[in-house]
Amino acid sequence: MWENLEVALEKVPREKMKAKPDQDKLGFGLHFTDHMLLMKWDRVNGWHDSKICPHQDFHLDPASMVFHYGQAIFEGMKAYRGKDDQILLFRPKDNFERMNASALRMCMPRLPVDNVLKMLRALLYLEREWIPAAEGASLYIRPTMIAVDPYLGVRPSETYWFYVILSPVGAYYAEGFSPTRIYVSDEHVRAVRGGVGNVKTAGNYAASLFTSQVAKKAGYTQVLWLDACEHRYVEEVGTSNIFFLLENELITPPLGGSILPGITRDSVLKLAESWGVKTAERQIAIDEVLAASQDGRLQEAFGTGTAAVISPVGELMYRDRIYQINNGQTGPLAQRLFTGLQAIQHGYDADPFKWTMRVF
Ligand SMILES: *Cc1c(COP(=O)(O)O)cnc(C)c1O
Repeated sequence: MWENLEVALEKVPREKMKAKPDQDKLGFGLHFTDHMLLMKWDRVNGWHDSKICPHQDFHLDPASMVFHYGQAIFEGMKAYRGKDDQILLFRPKDNFERMNASALRMCMPRLPVDNVLKMLRALLYLEREWIPAAEGASLYIRPTMIAVDPYLGVRPSETYWFYVILSPVGAYYAEGFSPTRIYVSDEHVRAVRGGVGNVKTAGNYAASLFTSQVAKKAGYTQVLWLDACEHRYVEEVGTSNIFFLLENELITPPLGGSILPGITRDSVLKLAESWGVKTAERQIAIDEVLAASQDGRLQEAFGTGTAAVISPVGELMYRDRIYQINNGQTGPLAQRLFTGLQAIQHGYDADPFKWTMRVF
């Protein structure tokens, strides 16, 4: 099945393979499979030395540029086990195309999308026993690219590593699909227009940690980020895109340069439209959201992303005031989108948009 693939295979001997974790206690990003995909880039050879090899420690010079200047990009996607044990990916090309957009912004080399996808499918086939079967569980896929020149000058590295590691993850909502409490930050910002907020680069997440911690200490799950100029327009929630259902219109902020173009975001817009829901990509001020919540026009709010699919928002805290959304309950549209997207991802429902790719 995988002939014509220029990828070396270094297999872990069967007796050295790891024991599979307990399927009921997978959590997120805690366990890793036996193998990974690794390839290297330099100016002369381009991408080369691609191999599927044991998941292992790296030996890198401490001067490697990634450790100093953060030239690092990543992706997050999932392999789902569906009907008849078929294995499916959801819009995987979009993830690698987005990684190439990140690479361009961060002065890193482009990936050959079709080849990488082929290699990923070979890796998934090898690791097929690691793909969980429990409802809502999946195999999380983390493609990553790092700068590895041992050099302390500030310039783009001339050598890179690309690798893909795999982690079986449990259902995001272990205790049921439940709304989150969200802290609106009017002090810190996630990203600025013209910066790197629209690409998946490591530094964005480092920059968000402090505010996330403030939110957690105050008893909130995530931060709602506002725009960097006026601290007024809603941008994202945690590491997810945000949606509001306001007077039967589903609104999400436009991709203006500081917002990550989420694949779940795009899928939600298209799926909702196909159901006849009116959608809009437009700027929405926090004042508009809060006013609508107070006079009952705000019906629902939820985040979207690969990890949780849909993450309903039950409460917003802004300047020491609490605003409840839908009485703190999951709304019907969030519920329908969650169920609908998961059914497409696992191959249980028809896939009119041709989003899923069967791996084997
Ligand atoms: C990854 C990510 C998202 C969601 O993207 P998906 O493609 O839907 O997983 C949204 N916002 C940020 C900041 C992200 O890093």
